[in-house]
Amino acid sequence: MSTPKMELRELGNTGLKLSCVGFGASPLGNVFGPVPMEEAVGCVRRAVDLSINFFDTSPYYGNTLSEKILGKCLKALEVPRSEYIVSTKCGRYGDGFDFSAERVTRSVDESLERLQLDYVDILQCHDIEFGSLDQIVSETLPALVKLREAGKIRFIGITGLPLDVFTYVLDRVPPGTVDVVLSYCRYGINDTALDDLIPYLKGKGVGVISASPLAMGLLTEAGPPDWHPAAPELKAACRAAAAHCKSKGKNISKLSLQYSLSNKDISTVLVGMNSVKQVEENITAAAELATEGIDDETLSEVEDILKPVKNQSWPSGIQRT
Ligand code: NAD
Repeated sequence: MSTPKMELRELGNTGLKLSCVGFGASPLGNVFGPVPMEEAVGCVRRAVDLSINFFDTSPYYGNTLSEKILGKCLKALEVPRSEYIVSTKCGRYGDGFDFSAERVTRSVDESLERLQLDYVDILQCHDIEFGSLDQIVSETLPALVKLREAGKIRFIGITGLPLDVFTYVLDRVPPGTVDVVLSYCRYGINDTALDDLIPYLKGKGVGVISASPLAMGLLTEAGPPDWHPAAPELKAACRAAAAHCKSKGKNISKLSLQYSLSNKDISTVLVGMNSVKQVEENITAAAELATEGIDDETLSEVEDILKPVKNQSWPSGIQRT
């Protein structure tokens, strides 16, 4: 399979240039089902060969398994460290949340050991809606700034599902504290809520990573895993959209990824991949988008099917009044 080099996009003010398709490594933590080690190494190798340069993980995924497997895979490649960009997270763990300065400082050392790296490019506070946002502002982020100064991490990010937590934090920290926001499930065919936040983020020079273009499996033929938090109505609408695509000989995942990639204000679209086949399909989808554009007819049919559930999300984190 030969494909053109993937488009690189700048990430806010970081100077990093990320491949527009990023490799989401949560599936390597067996989050969507078991992945044999050989397949995991094959996925990461194929991703790098086909010019993906950005890998995202967390100590939370598979209770540290994703970081360990990603570390092994990257090491097995034997490519120079400067050729790939790694982001991991802190504050969310298999046994709960802890955004204290002490825990996140210890966490980065643990992550570096599992990833077999000397530094990570981006360290993100993982799903801040589950913590005290005032603690994130006054304690967690200052601890991360120290880690950035020490060279253990190059850039700082925050992640979450609700979008208002990002503005709450960014309005209260000095400029340049937060380099990146990672939003998930808020920019896909069924939900485009992130779009409204982009001018604000651009104004602050904060880079935008959008994760889960397939809505964590909702927009796939196979459907979501059992743990998926969407309401039955949203699941049913996505199932209908996938079936409609299939009946036309089209693929909902390809359409959904291409839809997310079409927004050039998003620096990278992180998609979770657990087979070489998926890596190849997703990279081909990006290449075809660049040369042929999106299938407008099927897109508008799918948008119609998903209209009744447009921007319908689900509760996440501490419910604030
Ligand atoms: P996703 O929307 O990328 O969907 C992943 C699912 O789609 C997996 O089951 C995968 O096997 C399947 N898939 C991928 N390519 C496919 C293809 N071509 N055809 C059919 N199925 C395909 O959801 P995700 O993995 O949760 O999100 C992507 C990444 O973003 C994660 O791995 C993680 O790195 C990051 N993320 C971060 C956060 C956070 O920080 N809070 C939240 C969600 C995701």
